[in-house]
Amino acid sequence: MKKLCKKVTAALLLLLSISFAACGTKEPAAPETPETPSTIGEGLFTPGTYEGTAKGYHGDITLTVTVDENNILEIKSEHTETEGLGDKAVATLTEAALEKASLSMDLVSGATYSSQGFLAALEAALVKAGADVEKLKVKESVEVEKKDQEFDTEVAIIGGGGAGLAAAVSAHQNGAKVLLVEKMPNVGGNTIISGSAFNAVDPKRQSAQGIEDSVEKHFQQTYEGGDKQGDPELVRVLVENAYPTIEWLESLGMKFTDKVFTVLGALWPRSHKPVEPLGTGYVNTFMNYINEHKDDITVLTEVEAKELLVNADGAVTGFLAEGKNGKITVNAKNGVIVATGGFGANVEMRDQYNTIWPKLTNIKTTNHRGATGDGIIMAEKVNASIVQMENIQLLPMGDPVTGSLSGNIEQGVENRIFINAEGNRFVDEGARRDVMTKALMEQTESMMWVIVDKHSYPTDDTVNNFNETMESLVKEGRAYKADTLEDLAKQIGVEPENLVKAVEAFNASVDGAEDEFGRTLFMDKLDTAPFYAGKRVPTVHHTMGGIKITPETRVVDQNGEIIKGLFAAGEVTGGIHGSNRLGGNALADVHTFGRIAGATAASEGK
Ligand code: ADP
Repeated sequence: MKKLCKKVTAALLLLLSISFAACGTKEPAAPETPETPSTIGEGLFTPGTYEGTAKGYHGDITLTVTVDENNILEIKSEHTETEGLGDKAVATLTEAALEKASLSMDLVSGATYSSQGFLAALEAALVKAGADVEKLKVKESVEVEKKDQEFDTEVAIIGGGGAGLAAAVSAHQNGAKVLLVEKMPNVGGNTIISGSAFNAVDPKRQSAQGIEDSVEKHFQQTYEGGDKQGDPELVRVLVENAYPTIEWLESLGMKFTDKVFTVLGALWPRSHKPVEPLGTGYVNTFMNYINEHKDDITVLTEVEAKELLVNADGAVTGFLAEGKNGKITVNAKNGVIVATGGFGANVEMRDQYNTIWPKLTNIKTTNHRGATGDGIIMAEKVNASIVQMENIQLLPMGDPVTGSLSGNIEQGVENRIFINAEGNRFVDEGARRDVMTKALMEQTESMMWVIVDKHSYPTDDTVNNFNETMESLVKEGRAYKADTLEDLAKQIGVEPENLVKAVEAFNASVDGAEDEFGRTLFMDKLDTAPFYAGKRVPTVHHTMGGIKITPETRVVDQNGEIIKGLFAAGEVTGGIHGSNRLGGNALADVHTFGRIAGATAASEGK
């Protein structure tokens, strides 16, 4: 695995809005070698250069730290953390440590393991520098003057994930002044950590690949794939506007690869993949636009909306929020767009509404920790209709340790199979997500192995959908590699004979034999070494219930009337996907409806 002194990309700089060198340095230049520890005087450190290593999300983070008596002068980092997320955390914390020598920095949201790894590596280095690390871990209580603030805008948006950012750009393009609040230190939400697939019927890319498709087919699969519980009008808006939304994103500078694929549970090859890793492409595209229009679009991070404001006529006129330095009142002439995402990370709320799964209390989630359902709770308090809250989506694809999607070795549906602890297949791997997860829950220890071969990873440095190379996954023990299926079976502890038989039957189905589980999506045989296996467990992924909206994204109240001045878009809304959301339909949904919400809110009162 190639170790990098990570360079921070321009896109990343944009997200962070700070600048720093590839390896953080502060003048003057650091001494090359440590002096003897006994030279420590009144200061914090013995001047010199020290190394510290600790485990990050994808293996070791090694820091080479140069200090003088009281300051950290330079931090050189070597690591393989996820581009666009983990490396961002390392860069942010490097900057913070150079600013003030401390071990009490906040973890960077969405990159907890990378942040913890960085801090542990820094601590190891500073111990060698003779530091009193316990002292460095104490958070200084900085006396910040508390100051309440009030903002006036036209369109106010709560939440800076895909839906909120799309709404901000679209509202501005439609002539409105915009203010967006995000409760976390960084925008991005679940969107930035997603696998990034976006379903759309694409006249260009699909025909180039010889894939037949139609908007009608996308409609049927979405509607029927959710057991016809979704509102057909909203499904229609989604499938008809998904491709125009791709074109809109492209007009803003976003790049998608030429090939479409079938993401897990998508049922059809119409999933688009951005060129930038994970969901960073969407967020960077919006933030580029927003940074170019700072006079008219304000983004406030670490500001948590708490309560919607309603006037005597029942119209929503703004919201109250809490920032680090005090209360914030936002007055919005046109109204408020709620784009706070789902409640996958709110265990209490999951348990409150779950009726279709066995207890979810101890199931991990793919979600970021801000996915706590705030918008649903706020909207309910102003009498909004909240629908289909029991429709909670689980995936069979969680990392066994973290529940996250990263580490998943499948490259698409066609070229992989799932086997259980005994080495047998147990489900149609091209089925709906709920069908696959329910089947997985019935297997020994509710776990499975994803099996792929060289077709999915032609080279060791081929990356999965989470920008991780197969080489790094194998090295970290998160995937297994073998030249024969028998050897692979031995490594993962399943019956070799069963695995060989399962693969033989699958290969026969690729040649046209009827599949035992009714699978229909095939491409290549699993017949080319090396073979790979990766372990997966059920994980909570998406909450399909939420605020009821009209096709224009206006919020509907419990009597079926529109609540003036209130709009909602993205995972916070309910009733689009029904009982089961197709893979790849979430990003299509959040960006399509976010874009519509921006336009609707901008036109309000005009
Ligand atoms: P979507 O895909 O629908 O855009 P995301 O999860 O990507 O959903 O984004 C939702 C965003 O809203 C997250 O960044 C989350 O931190 C933010 N958020 C949630 N609740 C609040 C709140 N009360 N105030 C401000 N931001 C919030």
